[in-house]
Amino acid sequence: MSEPKSILIVGAGFSGAVVARHLAEAGHRVTVIDARDHVAGNCHTARDPQTGVMVHRYGPHIFHTDDAGVWDYVNRFATMMPYRHQVKAQVGAQIYALPINLHTINQFFGTALSPEQARAFVATQATGDDVVSFRDQGLRFVGRPLYDAFFDGYTRKQWGVDPARLPASILKRLPLRFTYDDNYFAHRFQGIPREGYTTLVARILDHPGITVHLRCPAEEVEAARFDHLVYTGPLDRYFGHRFGRLRYRTLRFEHERVAAPHQGTAVMNYCDADVPFTRITEHMYFAPWEADRFQRSVITREYSATAGAEDIPYYPVRLLDDKALLSRYIALARQSDRVTFLGRLGTYAYLDMDVAIAQALDMAAHLSECFATGRRPAVFPQTSGAGSAHRVARAAHRADRVFAPLRAERLAQAAHMHIDSARVDIDVAPPYSVQ
Ligand code: FAD
Ligand code: UDP
Repeated sequence: MSEPKSILIVGAGFSGAVVARHLAEAGHRVTVIDARDHVAGNCHTARDPQTGVMVHRYGPHIFHTDDAGVWDYVNRFATMMPYRHQVKAQVGAQIYALPINLHTINQFFGTALSPEQARAFVATQATGDDVVSFRDQGLRFVGRPLYDAFFDGYTRKQWGVDPARLPASILKRLPLRFTYDDNYFAHRFQGIPREGYTTLVARILDHPGITVHLRCPAEEVEAARFDHLVYTGPLDRYFGHRFGRLRYRTLRFEHERVAAPHQGTAVMNYCDADVPFTRITEHMYFAPWEADRFQRSVITREYSATAGAEDIPYYPVRLLDDKALLSRYIALARQSDRVTFLGRLGTYAYLDMDVAIAQALDMAAHLSECFATGRRPAVFPQTSGAGSAHRVARAAHRADRVFAPLRAERLAQAAHMHIDSARVDIDVAPPYSVQ
């Protein structure tokens, strides 16, 4: 083992926590700070004290991946409960199933087509060859009637711009199926952590080599005191927005307690442009193993808007002019010494949790090696987060081992972490009782 380094990590979301754990296990001294009063970043979950429902505070989070190494990693810190995400969508006065599948197509067109008939029929609707934008992709993918009904209005609300200005990659996230399979994701592994994401991340951070400071903005910490900085906050914020602000969408969440059940499913999208919110989440359905225990339910309406200076940035917009500004920040960042940018905000990228974890694991391995050999660490991730040989090998190795389940007192400890010398409560699943 090389000489231990002292590392500052800005951000206690998945990206920061995973790097912190890896470096602490390698013997380094790690300090993690976060401006918020909880760990887990945007994946934060906490039980509503009145209803007992586990609420996804910053929007619905479903863990899904094809990466066995990442799946194995989260299972090391949490019991991942089986969960199959099914999304409904309201268009006009009708409720449909998403992603667009054979049921959606037959219901929408009032037909009873077989898979092959539906495939041929949708092909006759598809228009355009040259796919550059979200709109091109949508029209090519499903044709105008389905595009107008399901994608145009929702996307205008979500992104605040004409879909012709958005990249096609956003829509490529969604499948189109000519079967009755309405699983929103096509990944091999899918689940929700039984105790919520905040407990999961708290357990990743629960290591004697890691100190966590909450309510602690990076601007209040002297990074020069550390050997290296891993920054998972917004790239432009790190540089004091000196070239201007990268464009983000922010979200406003309107939480409400209602009688249970309310909408009968976890997520209902509202695709019509004249409905001001994009979707309603009913949180108890993310925990099917306990959903029937609640008399009261928690729902959240989600409104999307341009992020102002004081807003939380959620989605990087990445239009052409955003990319030009991003290039300037990237060029500036590449001149920096002893800093690595990571995560959804640090790399200004639309990353799902599994990709954020994969990139963090790869980056942590890279940093460990650089600290051991004296090489200069990379400023940005070198990998896309798509299954590296390194992680796959580690997963195979771990599959042979039996992990002792975390005992109850370890779990309780994970809810408290040393913040300097004081003990500070982290807002994780408090004990609760359901009437
Ligand atoms: P974050 O979780 O954003 O963490 C960054 C942390 O850094 C934050 O806690 C922030 O407070 C802190 N920070 C920032 N700047 C500073 C600073 N200057 N000083 C101190 N602290 C700072 N992914 C999925 O896989 N499945 C889903 O279903 C899913 N749903 C999503 C729904 C929504 C509405 C959103 C917004 C995202 C969703 N995601 C989903 C993506 C998921 O949230 C991200 O992949 C994940 O949060 C990335 O983790 P991160 O650590 O990179 O960033
Ligand atoms: N989308 C849409 N209608 C829907 C659902 C999604 O137009 O009912 C579009 C929208 O532009 C969205 C993108 O598809 O941003 C990706 O959808 P996803 O459900 O992956 O979005 P997320 O959960 O990341 O917000």
